[in-house]
Amino acid sequence: MDKDYYNILGVSRSASSSEIKKAYRTQAMKYHPDRNPDNGEAEEKFKSAAEAYEVLGDQEKRQIYDTYGIDGLKSRGYSGPGNFEDIFSSFGDIFGDLFGFGGGMRSRDPNGPMNGSDLRYDLNISFMEAVHGFEKEIEITRPDTCWTCEGSGLRPGHQPQTCTTCHGKGQVIHSQGFFRLSSTCPHCRGKGSIITDPCSDCNGAGLTNKKKKVSLKIPAGVDTGARMRLRSEGEGGRRGGQPGDLYVVLYVDPHELFEREGNDIHCQLSISMVQAAVGCKIDVPTIHGTKNITIPSGTQSGRIFTLKAEGVPLLQRAGRGDMHIGIKVITPSSLTQRQEEILKEFDQIEDEKRDSQKGGFFKKIFQRAS
Ligand SMILES: [Zn+2]
Ligand SMILES: [Zn+2]
Repeated sequence: MDKDYYNILGVSRSASSSEIKKAYRTQAMKYHPDRNPDNGEAEEKFKSAAEAYEVLGDQEKRQIYDTYGIDGLKSRGYSGPGNFEDIFSSFGDIFGDLFGFGGGMRSRDPNGPMNGSDLRYDLNISFMEAVHGFEKEIEITRPDTCWTCEGSGLRPGHQPQTCTTCHGKGQVIHSQGFFRLSSTCPHCRGKGSIITDPCSDCNGAGLTNKKKKVSLKIPAGVDTGARMRLRSEGEGGRRGGQPGDLYVVLYVDPHELFEREGNDIHCQLSISMVQAAVGCKIDVPTIHGTKNITIPSGTQSGRIFTLKAEGVPLLQRAGRGDMHIGIKVITPSSLTQRQEEILKEFDQIEDEKRDSQKGGFFKKIFQRAS
């Protein structure tokens, strides 16, 4: 049976995208694994909510789902997020700029090595940077391993003290009637030990915020939503754990002249009434520089000229999209007296032309009738 994504998020089928986002945010916060350690039910709910949001949060996928259901999505090559990394990748737009999305593997031993989380960084780039690609150094602030304590959180030379509540077991036993239930020790949060002498540099967290410059090499043709993975540039590991990865998500600023549709570029070109009527050669800006094009005589407003392969380079493939130039014919305004005279004379000639054509038409009918 199909899962009902609307039910999972608790929204109506007509919910707006902001309602869906809000509902997902609420559920993700509630069932986030960091808040519900070792809670399988919460983890399932967290995953389902992420899967539902993956579909309903995307206009195109939502439409397919509404019309054809989950099978429709599958047959188009979409599937729910298969692993945690994907789930967390849809987080950033909800939780803001730089958010640890916990992709790092959690170690079973609470005092053992702990890998860093993956981080997401949203980067705005210009239209031309996206089209042509670029190399850039960005500076990010991220939680990195505290090298004073190597991520242990301990003041150097000190040892963690055995937790007196659970006597180092990390679990406490409750008796409830006939049952003995064990749960995570609330005092040491399952670690079995307590830091009584925290590292002064990180206050016992094992991580400190550090600025780091990372180099980005963005290929030509990227668009909004493109994701770059920078290995080991995420949150630092603790106690010898591996650092997480950094995902840079690109947002492309609009351009004042060009509009992008896939790999095609659209722009509008204004020409004068006279240029449109008698034709002209004119320089037009393209994303690859100025091109001279010929406007034939009698060009109407709204006509579109296509320049083949003058659009956006295809991402990591040879070839380019096209450029489409929409013509806008400008009607002259604030005419001088002389210009007005000329135009009126022009109009008179047009009338005479029309009359003579009409005459010819009547003549033909007359000839046929006789
Ligand atoms: Zn430290
Ligand atoms: Zn304890």
